[in-house]
Amino acid sequence: MQKTLIGRKTLLALSLLAGASTAGNAQAQTDYSTVEVIPHQVRDGIYYLQGAGGHVGLSVGDDGVVMIDDQFAPLTEKIMAAIRTLSDGPIRFLINTHVHGDHVGGNENIGRLGIPIVARDEVRVRMQAQYPGVALPVLTFNDEISVYLNGEEISAVPLPPAHTDGDSMIVFRGSNVIHTGDVFRTGAYPIIDQGNGGTLEGTFGALGMIIAAAGPDTIIVPGHGELSDRADVIAFRDMVEDVANKVRPLVASGMTYEQVAAATPTAAYDAVHGNPERFLRALYSELGGQ
Ligand SMILES: [Zn+2]
Repeated sequence: MQKTLIGRKTLLALSLLAGASTAGNAQAQTDYSTVEVIPHQVRDGIYYLQGAGGHVGLSVGDDGVVMIDDQFAPLTEKIMAAIRTLSDGPIRFLINTHVHGDHVGGNENIGRLGIPIVARDEVRVRMQAQYPGVALPVLTFNDEISVYLNGEEISAVPLPPAHTDGDSMIVFRGSNVIHTGDVFRTGAYPIIDQGNGGTLEGTFGALGMIIAAAGPDTIIVPGHGELSDRADVIAFRDMVEDVANKVRPLVASGMTYEQVAAATPTAAYDAVHGNPERFLRALYSELGGQ
């Protein structure tokens, strides 16, 4: 590509296109050299790392480290350095919550370190098209699977097709913590990534499973955003239901997407959840809009 002949606007458009083609990758233009990876304690022995991309979940203890997701490849060194501030033990497993590049982008580096990668069958199948073999899960599952380390039962629980068709929640049973992957997030509407098999019906089902697995004292680690509790997930599910109930009759009446958007069915929630367009477009399509 003759870069010098391409103006800034074209480059921006190209990078926006690249971002749009890898759903969930809102950080497509992130300068990783400036990203700080910051550990946050959730409970004794449970942490999450905040950097760029989805939160990395960690169980840290006598047996070493169990890691949930790994953000982007350029951040692997910083992520490892952050883990080393918490433990000098071995990283025993990496579990991926779903296929998006801001959660599995470090897999190639992690795989090269010989750390076993675990994910649902669907994640491996979708990753095969885009990543080298070393980045792929070596152990896959299609039903609940548990790792017993650090005095903890860490369960990866497959969810209905919600954000993607390969979503799992990770339940730290002893510590009463759930990492939800991107099925639940704060400060944003849910992403129903239809291109990767996500559905509205599955979103209700998956949020219902998270709510059922949680108790009043469970700490919820979202894929992105702030630590939450079960009441926050219930409110999120209710919000999706309320918006879907507003959009459904509009679609049934034959409205175009633009007409539905102009009716502002998310007005009550935009202050908290931000720009609704992507969510509304997915809802419109999921509810039968053409
Ligand atoms: Zn995602």
